[in-house]
Amino acid sequence: MIITLKQRTTKKQVNEILKKIVDLGFSYHISKGESRTIIGVIGKNAILTKENFENMPQVESVTPISKPFKLVSREFKKENTIVKFGNNKIGDKKIVVIAGPCSVESKEKILHIAKILKRMEVDGLRGGAYKPRTSPYSFQGLGEEGLKYLYEAKKITGLPIVSEVMTPELVPVVSKYVDMLQIGARNMQNYYLLKEVGKINKPVLLKRGLSATVEELFMAAEYIMSQGNSNIVLCERGIRTFETYTRFTLDLNAIPIIKNMSHLPVIVDPSHGVGVRDYIPALCRASIAAGADGLIIEVHQQPELALSDGSQSLFPEQFMQVMKELKYVAKAVGRYI
Ligand code: PEP
Ligand code: MN
Repeated sequence: MIITLKQRTTKKQVNEILKKIVDLGFSYHISKGESRTIIGVIGKNAILTKENFENMPQVESVTPISKPFKLVSREFKKENTIVKFGNNKIGDKKIVVIAGPCSVESKEKILHIAKILKRMEVDGLRGGAYKPRTSPYSFQGLGEEGLKYLYEAKKITGLPIVSEVMTPELVPVVSKYVDMLQIGARNMQNYYLLKEVGKINKPVLLKRGLSATVEELFMAAEYIMSQGNSNIVLCERGIRTFETYTRFTLDLNAIPIIKNMSHLPVIVDPSHGVGVRDYIPALCRASIAAGADGLIIEVHQQPELALSDGSQSLFPEQFMQVMKELKYVAKAVGRYI
């Protein structure tokens, strides 16, 4: 249920409502918009207590939220949420481009690619230190050592960094180094992990599960938001279909759907979405044209030697070309890079 307050409500009047919510056994989430404050009341059957609030002088309206996801919905918050990632504002007019290798492989390699990417004007650096691999015999990542190298790359280039956190226990160590924590597709429904990242206030990049519906993605974001963290960036990264020419099928439908139903920003990962290097540039352009707020792209200085996802990693020159093309696409849809 959503309680919309009248304009110019005093702090005391807001607190009165919050106390009533807590006294009734519910929790709340406040969203302060430009002109109005909105309070989301969280708890089962909260709508049955509608009358308790309706007659309060500071209340403009009390409305049920029709969807199973509440805090994440546009009904709860009309304006777009903007998530700060370093100096970037994801969800604002500027398209945010994050690039880097699939995994952090060594100090030298991550520093090298980070400098190349900085010159190509990316906004952030990616690199996995804890890797969710299909085979237990594949490279599993460098762990904390990898995070240290990534952090060093940040210090040298000034680029904010994003890296995956795979378990609730790893949340403290990963948050110590990164600017944004990534929840991987395979962990989108790891509810303990979602709750844990909900308790910190660092941005979270929440990737869509391999077989998850958009509604399930929203519900996963709801887990994070219900714990207090609203700094969430959703990420479309492809889903399983019957197609075999590509690794996954990038679901561009998800972009306008997310924009319509949620206030959270959405970025696209075409690298995992299609999984074939040469198809990635077209999907970068299509994502921006469809309204994505940014991209996360795998780039490697020597993809043929990469320890993970080499065949979907762009060569730096290819990536540079993509950046050039994206400037035109962004402009065509009223945005910039
Ligand atoms: C990755 O970003 O390298 C990754 C493993 O992504 P996903 O969880 O989307 O497969
Ligand atoms: Mn990868």
